[in-house]
Amino acid sequence: MASTEPIILGLEGTAHTAGVAVIQGPQIHANESATYFPPQGGIHPREAATYLTKQFPILLKKIFQKLQFKPDKIDGIAFSQGPGLGPCLRTTATVARAISLKLNKPLLGVNHCIAHVELGRTITPANDPLVLYVSGGNTQLITFLNGRYRVLGETLDIAIGNALDSLGREMNLPHPGGPHIEKRAQQGKNLLLLPYTIKGMSFSFSGMVTAAKKLIANHSTSDICYSFQEYTFAILAEATERALSCTKKGSVLLTGGVAANVHLQNIIKLVAKEQESLFYVVPRNLAGDNGVMIAFAGTHLLKTGEIIPIQKSQVKPRWRTDQVQVGWIS
Ligand code: AMP
Ligand code: MG
Repeated sequence: MASTEPIILGLEGTAHTAGVAVIQGPQIHANESATYFPPQGGIHPREAATYLTKQFPILLKKIFQKLQFKPDKIDGIAFSQGPGLGPCLRTTATVARAISLKLNKPLLGVNHCIAHVELGRTITPANDPLVLYVSGGNTQLITFLNGRYRVLGETLDIAIGNALDSLGREMNLPHPGGPHIEKRAQQGKNLLLLPYTIKGMSFSFSGMVTAAKKLIANHSTSDICYSFQEYTFAILAEATERALSCTKKGSVLLTGGVAANVHLQNIIKLVAKEQESLFYVVPRNLAGDNGVMIAFAGTHLLKTGEIIPIQKSQVKPRWRTDQVQVGWIS
């Protein structure tokens, strides 16, 4: 029987990744993405936006070639309205508005962080989880309470992915540093002293990066990688455990690009077990930024009638997870 679920086109473009996908209910009809790697240093917002501008037409063409149906069957155009880098968000919004006008289909403004959560709720059995969202630009402990996703704890400065990448650059590892640090850490033997910065359920990483960079002159890369992972992951575990013991949620969902780290997965799995919760992790291919998550979240917005007119579709670079009224969960 043909699905009665709406068909949604999702556009992700908050920072380094241009993602385009078409979904229907939990089914992924097509999914394409392209990620910007800066030639040196960190991500420059304008250069990332230029990259997205070039990639979206290529990805859209690929997507429409793959679909078994005509684009006019699409019921809604969802895009990442925020949070993220201003130039990237504006590029993505412009593409979404153009498609919405061309196909005469409703525009759906999705919060990027909530999209990560909704993807996890769609593709794993986690229904009402405590979410540890660890990515290049965000690190948050999120859970649903009284009509909104609440941020129980978060980084007070830089995200864990950004911290790993910044340390990786200083050690001349390729970008992004996260997976390279994971590999080097496996050879580490000596735990070097680093600051351990946690305040309640929130934490901070930038001082730890500075301290780790100072060790480079006198210690092996593998010991630094090992120590940095042990300290930062212990902080994430402590905050997760505290949040879990307060909320008594029955499951923990690990998502975001850093969720690919097997050592982090094992640590959070252990925390969940000790708190008698189930552990779920979003698979590697969908843990980082992608169009599928935007489309999944967009489906909820369409169903609850939260359509935005073009003239009210300005991007929201600092849009917080807890500012969104969640009408699709009772
Ligand atoms: P996202 O912003 O969600 O697309 O995630 C990108 C971030 O994930 C980057 O900072 C990467 O360094 C990080 N990342 C990817 N794979 C791993 C890994 N295996 N271990 C640690 N970090 C990773
Ligand atoms: Mg993300």
